[in-house]
Amino acid sequence: MNVAKLTEDQLRTTFPFEALSRGEGSVGQFYDCIVKNGDLYGKIKGNHGVYNAVLYTSRTPLTGECNCKTTDLCKHTAALGLSYLYTPWVFKCEDNIDRANLKNIDDIQFYVAMTPLRQFVNELKEQKIALSKLAEITRIPLQQISAAIRDSENGTPHTLTDILKLAILYLLDSNALRA
Ligand SMILES: [Zn+2]
Repeated sequence: MNVAKLTEDQLRTTFPFEALSRGEGSVGQFYDCIVKNGDLYGKIKGNHGVYNAVLYTSRTPLTGECNCKTTDLCKHTAALGLSYLYTPWVFKCEDNIDRANLKNIDDIQFYVAMTPLRQFVNELKEQKIALSKLAEITRIPLQQISAAIRDSENGTPHTLTDILKLAILYLLDSNALRA
């Protein structure tokens, strides 16, 4: 199971208050964000160059790494964790997640947040399930579904994105059961 798991509580108990509150201001400024082996990586431009922040979410307790050379639990690693909580869709997942390994609602929640809507839609196509079926079970008009797909491709999360992903998971699962 390689979905990176993180809660706000974990961040609060691990990071000094100052790092977290200063980190708040840097949420959304990371680039090249990835999840690898359940850990978070991201780059951010600072006053003295580019910082490579890592948050080892697969370890207990949480640890970080950053080349700002202040502390491993610096504002950058704090901000990276906050970015993952607030905007998980900017992180590309380098791990191959096997859906059969999703064990509970937390796993599913992170899987859904991390996987682009386009990937779900492609799987639907591979299974030869029409988008109209998706419209039927969600009662969301096709036009709105297409708009949501376009928005998430442009990196704009749409209010319908997660609902559509869950509905597609449902369609894929029921299709697998029938096969
Ligand atoms: Zn740092």
